[in-house]
Amino acid sequence: MDIYLDNASTTPVFEEVIKQLPVWTRNFYANPNSIHKLGQKVKNEIEKVRQNIANIINESTENIIFTSGATESNNTIIKGYIEKTKKREILISSIEHKSVLNVAKYLAKKGIKIKFLKVDENGKIDLDYLKKSLSKETALACIIHTNNETGVKQDIKEISKILKEHEIPLFSDTVQSFIKEEIDFQDIDFYSVSGHKINSIKGIGLLVKKKDLSPLIHGGGQENGFRSGTQNVIGILAIGKAIEIWDKNKEEYKKNLKQLKETFETRIKEEIPDIKIVSEKVERANSISCLIFPKVDAQSLVISLGRQGVYLSSGSACSSGTPTPSHVLLAYGYSEEEALKAIRVSFGVFNSLEEVEESVLKIKKSFEKIYKFSF
Ligand code: PMP
Repeated sequence: MDIYLDNASTTPVFEEVIKQLPVWTRNFYANPNSIHKLGQKVKNEIEKVRQNIANIINESTENIIFTSGATESNNTIIKGYIEKTKKREILISSIEHKSVLNVAKYLAKKGIKIKFLKVDENGKIDLDYLKKSLSKETALACIIHTNNETGVKQDIKEISKILKEHEIPLFSDTVQSFIKEEIDFQDIDFYSVSGHKINSIKGIGLLVKKKDLSPLIHGGGQENGFRSGTQNVIGILAIGKAIEIWDKNKEEYKKNLKQLKETFETRIKEEIPDIKIVSEKVERANSISCLIFPKVDAQSLVISLGRQGVYLSSGSACSSGTPTPSHVLLAYGYSEEEALKAIRVSFGVFNSLEEVEESVLKIKKSFEKIYKFSF
């Protein structure tokens, strides 16, 4: 039996969404930007989804833009806001996803000053350092809501309060927490969402903006001029349905995920007492657990577990395949050696307690086999 524990990387699609895909494809083939009846029928469907999402997040519809995913949303938010303002400095946490970090690096080459924010040993933003980093030139602060490698959640309320006092907008990547965790949306000026992390299909995401942005993609002026290109109609309907399902079952899903993670962590510590759970003492997402193994290299463990039908990641999935230590764990203060021993276990709504128990035993088996040869 395959056990999929890589839900922070991507999630299986809800059955209800899968069932609708051929139906939507057949019924809603017209271009939503055509003014004829068939086009308008599709446009209505898109606007129904936008309205539904707006109701769930308590936002006005014109602030919700559909994109191809969170990488595009993150690029649009940062580049689009920098183009709108005269200020030339960005604050960015050192633990962002590559789709934020690499945008900052790109802008640095164009003359924008980038200031990196420090985190403490638990991965929480150092608020004093944040205060000291603010200047009259600061255009935007980019601070991930829930880290994709460790699950650590930031104190967004506190951060937002500090930034508001200086009238600096906050952009927060909410890919790992949107609809899965409590988020005070009113504290965030821009945020990004990815469909495939919430059991929708891939290639669809959204951004929410409360301030004006320049578009990243120019063309026919779709999405109110903020994102040109004929809309991914099926993707929009899929993310809409996934958000609706999550919203309806949120409390139950959250409770189950929390139970899966807590059971997993309790059991793995019983089986491998020297294991370290990253940021165990601070508030983390219900679905992500990052573990550092004594002596055993994470890549070997992930490969060995894959052979046993347990699928998870070493570090972030986006950078897996490269044996470089995670920039996130290095920022927390872990050594390169420790960071290369970290694996991420991420739970989803389709996992069960039986899978948790079986995966713990298989992790132990793989760990012991590799451990024996590591001296
Ligand atoms: N931000 C975070 C925190 C992520 O985990 C990911 C996906 N790995 C992304 C952004 C990029 O999302 P997408 O795949 O939709 O481009």
